[in-house]
Amino acid sequence: MRSRRAKEKRKKWTYSVIVTLIGLLLIGSIVVVIWQKNKVVEPNTEIVHEQPTEKLEQAPPKEVKEEPEVLDDNGYVEGQELPTEPTYIKDILIASKRYPLPKTFAPGEQPEARKAMDELIAAAKQRGFTLTAFSGYRSYDYQTTLYNNYVARDGKDAADRYSARPGYSEHQTGLVYDVGEVGKEDIWLTEQFGESEAGIWIRDNAHKYGFIMRYPKGKEDITGYMYESWHFRYVGEDIATKIAKANSTLEEYLEIK
Ligand SMILES: [Zn+2]
Repeated sequence: MRSRRAKEKRKKWTYSVIVTLIGLLLIGSIVVVIWQKNKVVEPNTEIVHEQPTEKLEQAPPKEVKEEPEVLDDNGYVEGQELPTEPTYIKDILIASKRYPLPKTFAPGEQPEARKAMDELIAAAKQRGFTLTAFSGYRSYDYQTTLYNNYVARDGKDAADRYSARPGYSEHQTGLVYDVGEVGKEDIWLTEQFGESEAGIWIRDNAHKYGFIMRYPKGKEDITGYMYESWHFRYVGEDIATKIAKANSTLEEYLEIK
């Protein structure tokens, strides 16, 4: 009688251990599945691609693939194709080596940027500097011609160092100007412009008119571009002021690479 009871007890005990183990395994796998799902979705929540409403029905938004990026010597993502839609992050249009623009993206010069640049130039004039925005909106086709000419002249590697590939130029946004001082054309597009009185004035005051120096000195690893004291991007006064006061960049402000 005693041994039979003991046997039954042991049987019950073994049974409950097995049930508990199976239960734990089930809970464990559910936790792993949920965790993996969250892991894949999270990094992309802030990247919003503009999608015309009429296209939404036939073409559901593609999931952004998480593939390891391989950058070439000039900072471009190897094998990357141009997107079909431009990328907006926190409502700001981004154009960089990591976020190129579609071939078809041709907004032209943006009136709010033009107006702000005219105001900036007028303010500079008051201080005795005659500035000019000698290069603004560039279409995809124009950038293609420009880049191909550079490649033909200097080779691809050299051209990549000073010129953007078609689809990668921020000038295609219509929100960008290269600025120089009239009468000092010899230092246009050089570091010396940044050291000139006019260059220092625009560096310190552009944000009041909504512009940021897009590729500042010492931020080459963040922006992917060498220092360009002449290249100014319109982002609006509030954001420009935040970026300028923090001695920051658009990438840092948007918390992107
Ligand atoms: Zn430029």
